Amino acid sequence: MIRSRKDYILTRWKVPLSDIDIGEEEIRAVTGVLRSRWLSMGPVTAEFESQFAQYVGVKHAFAVANCTAALHLASVAVGLRPGDRAICPSLTFVATANAIRYTGAVPILADITSENDLNISPEEIERKIDSSTKAISVVHYGGYPCAMESILSIAKRHDLYIIEDAAHALGAATYVRLDSGDGKKTVLRQCGALGDVGCFSFFANKNMVTGEGGMLTTNRDDVAEKIRILRSHGMTTLTWDREQGHSFSYDVVGLGYNYRFDEMRAAIGLIQLKKLEFNNQRRAVATSVYKKKLAEIDEIHIPFGEVQSRPAYHLFPIILDVNIGRNAFMEFMQENGIQTSIHYPAIHTFSAYRDVCDSGNDLTVTKDIAKRIVTLPLYPNLEEHHIDYIVRTIKRYFTETAARS
Ligand SMILES: *Cc1c(COP(=O)(O)O)cnc(C)c1O
Repeated sequence: MIRSRKDYILTRWKVPLSDIDIGEEEIRAVTGVLRSRWLSMGPVTAEFESQFAQYVGVKHAFAVANCTAALHLASVAVGLRPGDRAICPSLTFVATANAIRYTGAVPILADITSENDLNISPEEIERKIDSSTKAISVVHYGGYPCAMESILSIAKRHDLYIIEDAAHALGAATYVRLDSGDGKKTVLRQCGALGDVGCFSFFANKNMVTGEGGMLTTNRDDVAEKIRILRSHGMTTLTWDREQGHSFSYDVVGLGYNYRFDEMRAAIGLIQLKKLEFNNQRRAVATSVYKKKLAEIDEIHIPFGEVQSRPAYHLFPIILDVNIGRNAFMEFMQENGIQTSIHYPAIHTFSAYRDVCDSGNDLTVTKDIAKRIVTLPLYPNLEEHHIDYIVRTIKRYFTETAARS
């Protein structure tokens, strides 16, 4: 007998790190697809892509197997190849940098801005640009938009592509001053609609879930056409087109992949997309409750103190004081049924990256923060009494360790 996730989580954790909002509506939607007997990419996926594109505010959206596949396709679509370099942060999930390496290009890791702004630093990006640099891969850490106005202007000045790893940032938006026909105008733009191509994840702990799953977004017709072809073996037609009698054969025009999506996940995605704004709002409320209640604890610092943008509140990270042992802190939380995590062990410290990037005296803020950062639970259903319990436990940890020392 398989235990349900709910039973599992409730027996193991009083407060898990993340939790999903899946209900009868998703179950009915999947059942409907199964009854339709068309399971791979087809009309439900097309509808999901169309609604997703409209929500993010882009011309094109392509559903794919996962965000890592999206990042790979984005790297190929902007033309990364051996000999090229692409700049990305070290404080991110490894997939951001892996996707650059899949093409034979080299990821150049850049530092984050500060203890308050955990996003890639525009100054550090600019410092790392050389004649081989072709792209910048930005990550909107925790759902907090990067300094996109600066990054867009750097990319323009150096003729670089921008890939947005927006895995945390579905629904996040930021203000940018853009050249429109009649002079400069400030507009609110969603993450994934700011660079040349955006990549989203629907993995089970993201703001919107389909199990595995991802999406590419772009306003560029040329990039869109490449993605369309490369997502399905480089073939010029899809099985669905042939089923519809639109064509009998196909050509293969590039070295493509099978990164397709399926109808069951698209059906879940359509329901999840409807719930997204409400759930992001609940994440925002939980974040502000946390901030208020944690403010009086001197031993921790809360990043992203003042933001001008509209975050998606994917993560709630805290930074511990330099002299606090992170392992002991996380163990104490675990003993009290609170799941915490680290976002992220920095990429430059991984064995598989030691020969790829020499971090030397570089990445000083990342090196400091990566040792002190802890992620606390955050999900739409996180209630005030959960947060009270978490804050009480944190306070208890500091009073007890102070009493012992
Ligand atoms: C989750 C995540 C990914 C990978 O997403 P998958 O859908 O699991 O492939 C990439 N980048 C970041 C920043 C992520 O958080």
